[in-house]
Amino acid sequence: MSGSNATNPNSMHQFDSELTDQVFEYMRDRLSMPEVPLDFPGDPKVLAEAISGLIKPEGNPAADVLKLYDEVISRTVVSGDSPRFMAFIPTAPTKAALLFDMIVSCASIQGISWLEAAGAISAENQVLRWMSDVAGLPESAGGTFVSGGSAANLAALTVARDSGRQRLHGGKRLPVRIALSEQAHSSIGNSLGILDVEPLIVKTSGFAMTKADLERALSQLTENDAPVVGVVATAGTTNAGIIDDLVGISEVARANDMWFHVDAAYGGAGLLAPSVRSQFNGIENADSITMDPHKWWFSPFDVAAILYKNPKLAASVHTQDASYLDVLHEDDSLINPTDLAYHLTRRARGLPLWFSVVVNGTKAYSDAVEASISLTNEVAELIRAHDELELVIEPSLSVVLWRRKGWEAKDYRDLQDRLIESQTAFVTPTSWQGETVGRFAFVHPGTTLEMVKEVFANI
Ligand SMILES: *Cc1c(COP(=O)(O)O)cnc(C)c1O
Repeated sequence: MSGSNATNPNSMHQFDSELTDQVFEYMRDRLSMPEVPLDFPGDPKVLAEAISGLIKPEGNPAADVLKLYDEVISRTVVSGDSPRFMAFIPTAPTKAALLFDMIVSCASIQGISWLEAAGAISAENQVLRWMSDVAGLPESAGGTFVSGGSAANLAALTVARDSGRQRLHGGKRLPVRIALSEQAHSSIGNSLGILDVEPLIVKTSGFAMTKADLERALSQLTENDAPVVGVVATAGTTNAGIIDDLVGISEVARANDMWFHVDAAYGGAGLLAPSVRSQFNGIENADSITMDPHKWWFSPFDVAAILYKNPKLAASVHTQDASYLDVLHEDDSLINPTDLAYHLTRRARGLPLWFSVVVNGTKAYSDAVEASISLTNEVAELIRAHDELELVIEPSLSVVLWRRKGWEAKDYRDLQDRLIESQTAFVTPTSWQGETVGRFAFVHPGTTLEMVKEVFANI
């Protein structure tokens, strides 16, 4: 196909079997790879050069653009779904989820309101209900899917702030605070900044926030401090996989009428793993929970669940009021996904997860999560037995922090470059208590101990 025909404005909307075949062939190729290539970081200048001039009135032959995409653009995107991607938090979408994502795109499936998208919303709600059940949330619970954990946290903390203000200040925009520990994800601090809520940073005596830590922080407040209306606990810190004392924190939250938000963006999938499930006890008391299917629930980017114990309350905070939208709110027994976060138009981005869970069954999910936890334990053993290596802390969930004796920051950074150059792995350093250390995060059930040994062969 070449550029569109200017005389027919509908020409670019007509079925093009050649282009369709080319794209489907590309996808079939990619989907059939036993292990997708890691690929490489890219040089912005080189890339800008490679794509310069492409946007022009008369368009370009699609085959040429696809070739450029394949050979240049896609090669400079490090594949988060490679089993050799062990940095940050990787992703590991199932084939069923990837394929269904194409259907969601192809059919422009949105999930805004019951009026427009009842089918999609029913299916999304079914999988949200399953996630609520694994967390032990009550029947009343409900939520929606947003773009990521950051958006989910912002959505939840907005409700925390507003319900606190409602209770204490009659809804007036007076100062309130929300408590979090230093280990909370950066998006929590950002959200509080956006919301103009002052953080109360809880100093922790160990690595996890405990009941005593939170009580101590609250007891040090003076009469002049703004009231603390909520607390954020983390169920699986991104850097180290650590889970706060959810039972204890929820007790303090209840005793003080505070909103209890659990950020389980990365760790929430651990709920599916019998070997670690008990560490999440107390999560069932949450007023809101963030969980990212694009991390460890095997969905493609970009999708996060925000679950509320009381979705009606969330809707009262987030619903947008506009005359052209009145028709969406005729039946107030139904809660529209659009009313549960800061968004209006939304893709039905929960459907790939729904399809994959329904097709593969929940046991496959539990097994896949357990696989990464077992690998974590095996890697910990490997490190303990290695003369040059040390565990920085005992691993939690599927994150391993390790130290190569005698190494400095630059050595870890050099290792990162060596490993990606040889396509062995993508492994980035982190810092732990001021020290640069090595870090693995595992979520791909295809990541093997052998692959980790290949990393250590480079130290
Ligand atoms: C990843 C993560 C986030 C942010 O999620 P995004 O999907 O990247 O926006 C928030 N909290 C925790 C604990 C995370 O691990």
